[in-house]
Amino acid sequence: PNVPTPVNEPVLSYAPGTPERALLKETYARMAGEEIEIPLIIGGKEVRTGNTDVSVMPHNHKHVLARFHKAGPAEVKQAIEASLKAHREWSRWPWEDRLAVFQRAADLLATRYRPVLNAATMLGQGKTAHQAEIDSACEFIDFLRFNTHFTQKLYAEQPFSGPGMWNRLDHRPLEGFIYAVTPFNFTAIAGNLPTAPAMLGNVAVWKPAATAVYSGWFIMQILQEAGLPPGVINFLPGDPGPMTEAVLHDPNLAGIHFTGSTGVFQTIWKTVGDRIDSYKTYPRLVGETGGKDFIVAHASADPLALSTGIVRGGYEYQGQKCSAASRIYVPESLWPTVREQTLEMISRIRVGDVADFRNYMGAVIDRKAFDKITGYIKHAHEASDVEVLAGGTYDDSTGYFIQPTLVEVKDSAYRLMCEEVFGPVVSLHVYPDSKWEETLRIVDQTSPYALTGAIFANDRSAVLQASDMLRNAAGNFYINDKPTGAVVGQQPFGGARASGTNDKAGSILNMIRWISPRTIKETF
Ligand code: GLU
Repeated sequence: PNVPTPVNEPVLSYAPGTPERALLKETYARMAGEEIEIPLIIGGKEVRTGNTDVSVMPHNHKHVLARFHKAGPAEVKQAIEASLKAHREWSRWPWEDRLAVFQRAADLLATRYRPVLNAATMLGQGKTAHQAEIDSACEFIDFLRFNTHFTQKLYAEQPFSGPGMWNRLDHRPLEGFIYAVTPFNFTAIAGNLPTAPAMLGNVAVWKPAATAVYSGWFIMQILQEAGLPPGVINFLPGDPGPMTEAVLHDPNLAGIHFTGSTGVFQTIWKTVGDRIDSYKTYPRLVGETGGKDFIVAHASADPLALSTGIVRGGYEYQGQKCSAASRIYVPESLWPTVREQTLEMISRIRVGDVADFRNYMGAVIDRKAFDKITGYIKHAHEASDVEVLAGGTYDDSTGYFIQPTLVEVKDSAYRLMCEEVFGPVVSLHVYPDSKWEETLRIVDQTSPYALTGAIFANDRSAVLQASDMLRNAAGNFYINDKPTGAVVGQQPFGGARASGTNDKAGSILNMIRWISPRTIKETF
């Protein structure tokens, strides 16, 4: 059998006058006007615990979108049991039939539910229409379609045989369940982390981020409508601490598929380590955990391309991408031009309600994020050798709005050049042209992360030198482009060091972590 050859889903423009714009606006308005109730889904059944929380709009935090039920340790236990029960059949389904479920989900999303999932991502996570489209529509559809293709490729991987024998690999799923812990910032990642292992016959307990339960609920609806059997993916919003504790106590934990903070992933890893003798197998730990992504410019760079890279890489989705450009190194000779162009572009950025399609930025996700980001801004205002060149203001009266902020720092080791802010704050350091090589060393050394990075240069030897010296500083390295916006099937995504296990999302290298092959030798 041949799964359909995947092609990246085209990005719709939502330009004025287009049918998709009218439909999205209408869907957004309808959904904004209804408050829904979201139960857990365990073994295909809705479960209401009565312990609830609310989903609100980041750009209008008094507006409640949903009331959702939260799982406690008892529901975690039920969900694990339901998943193990589903494992028996699901792992024995012909793989074509398993993959057909996800192909169908991709199709449902591309056609019927695209406006719904985009509107949910705009409403609940504060994305603009374009940012929602490239995430909850295109990237999620791509994950579903490309991962079915990678699954087939993986299954085709077989050993050699000699005379009188037939050797083969039985690509078993892991024995046990997968715990999928997903972030707020990408609906596509939330969809990918439980579905990628499921394609290979695994089962999952899925804990969506509290701030993305709303879109998560619609993902679950689409998967169920596509024919996902009960118990294969169990939807469990809840408080991360007690839930994770309950999951890590279960001997059947076979793997964790995680995107979130470095601190949380390290705590999980330590706990798994402490309890390693209590599990039936060594749990696979796959995590993507943040970044402090750089743009380094050489004197040969095109200033306009560089300024565009800084602005798009730094401020799209309010800088809340793990891949966001957040520390920039510009040579003195280019700085006057780049400064003028960058500030001019920033001055044209409109920040506000994402229902107004002219806005380029919405609000940051919640109060905690707002406080953390504005804390960095306050610090920047007070520090003596830091100059706030743009933005630096914020207002949380209606939504958690922060203006795109650019700060110039004299000390390349200043905390804003090292720590992850996860917001629209870009720090920039101007270096003397003669210190190009030293700057590359600084780029490599000043942050513990290594997710994405970009070099802007037209001089090929500078590109080669940066590529070599920054070899381990980024898992995704961009030459003359912004460091965000990896496309499934085109730029496999992930980084090492404090950024994660680098098991490239959107590639066969990720899928390979979710099988535990059995080698079979048969003689004749
Ligand atoms: N894959 C996304 C990108 O390339 C970032 C994912 C993330 O923020 O975790 O922009």
